[in-house]
Amino acid sequence: MSQQLDPVTQAVRIQTPRSQQQEHSTPLYITSSFVFDEAEAMRAAFADESDDNIYSRFSNPNVDEFVKKMCALEGTEDGFATSTGMSAIFSSIFALLQQGDHLICCSSVFGSTFTIVTKYLPRFGITCTLVDANDQAAWEAAVQPTTKMVYLETPTNPQLEVIDLEWVGQFTKKHNLILNVDNCFATPLLQRPVEFGADLIVHSATKWIDGQGRVLGGIVLGRKDLIHEIYLFCRNTGPAMSPFNAWVLSKSLETLDVRMERHCANALKVAEALQNNPNVSWVKYPFLKGHPQYDIAQKQMKQGGGVLCFEIKGGVVAGRKFLDALQLLSVTANLGDSRSIASHPASTTHSKLTEEQRLSVGITPGLIRVSAGLEKVDDIIADIEQALAQSAS
Ligand SMILES: *Cc1c(COP(=O)(O)O)cnc(C)c1O
Repeated sequence: MSQQLDPVTQAVRIQTPRSQQQEHSTPLYITSSFVFDEAEAMRAAFADESDDNIYSRFSNPNVDEFVKKMCALEGTEDGFATSTGMSAIFSSIFALLQQGDHLICCSSVFGSTFTIVTKYLPRFGITCTLVDANDQAAWEAAVQPTTKMVYLETPTNPQLEVIDLEWVGQFTKKHNLILNVDNCFATPLLQRPVEFGADLIVHSATKWIDGQGRVLGGIVLGRKDLIHEIYLFCRNTGPAMSPFNAWVLSKSLETLDVRMERHCANALKVAEALQNNPNVSWVKYPFLKGHPQYDIAQKQMKQGGGVLCFEIKGGVVAGRKFLDALQLLSVTANLGDSRSIASHPASTTHSKLTEEQRLSVGITPGLIRVSAGLEKVDDIIADIEQALAQSAS
């Protein structure tokens, strides 16, 4: 029956086989290793001839349940869950590329991803070309005989640029490249990169998938042959997801669909409300008319996601005042929480960069990023509006 069930239903219903206790909710398998009754069974497990659990660095029932649900949601053959989003991203690149290979990466990527591809990859003889998200000629010009993989995220962080997945899918197919997509901002409920030809999808499960700011986690999903290589890499290098985090994340997937609906509805209403605010010079949200890639977003996303950004008038000073004036929204280094979050990169996370460096990664002086939570939207809007009014005084 599970073949015909909708992925959302599967995310609620996929479950590790019950123990003799007949528990309704999956128990937590806090165990480092698993026992074998016979040497032959252990030999077969190590020889890859059985699916038996061996050691929790390789697999664990809680982690498997989370992976199976994610495969159903993303429509992928296989997956491997990791301790954080960064270990998923790092493993998806390092397991598959080697010295002499070349990677094409979109220029606006998550900060630590940027550091991996620009600082660490070159140390191992893997070169990387950064390309502007929507400059298709630049993508074509970046291809080299040694190019193996294209890495991108859409919508991008923090500028919320939307990259045309249909076009990139055709591009990577034409050049026979592995397409690796960070689908963290959209989640599989809003966008399924496999439908556009992605070979790999990576997630920070820390964000919308957990959804309540409790645990870190990551996952790589995709083609069976590629995931097998990534599995072997991780099995030996050790970025395993903890059973507890997998248990939390698997439970979170039961509510992802309903949560994302509210997050997206709230984000759109906040974006619409801010459009007419006298202290705001522009607002950006993928499903807001006027977004530069509005048509692409409509084509490839079901909804616009839970993040919006805007430019506060008065630059860095006003941005800092805005953060200090917030009463409801949290000022914290995360997103994808049931509680709304605001950040002002220029005065906080990116304050060490020069203004020129900040602009090169899309961070304007008054850029505010809001992760819309699950509070009643009128309360979110009221807090942002009062803080904006104070930032101008
Ligand atoms: C947070 C984030 C990551 C990193 O994930 P961690 O779980 O913090 O390691 C990667 N990509 C995007 C888009 C993110 O927002």
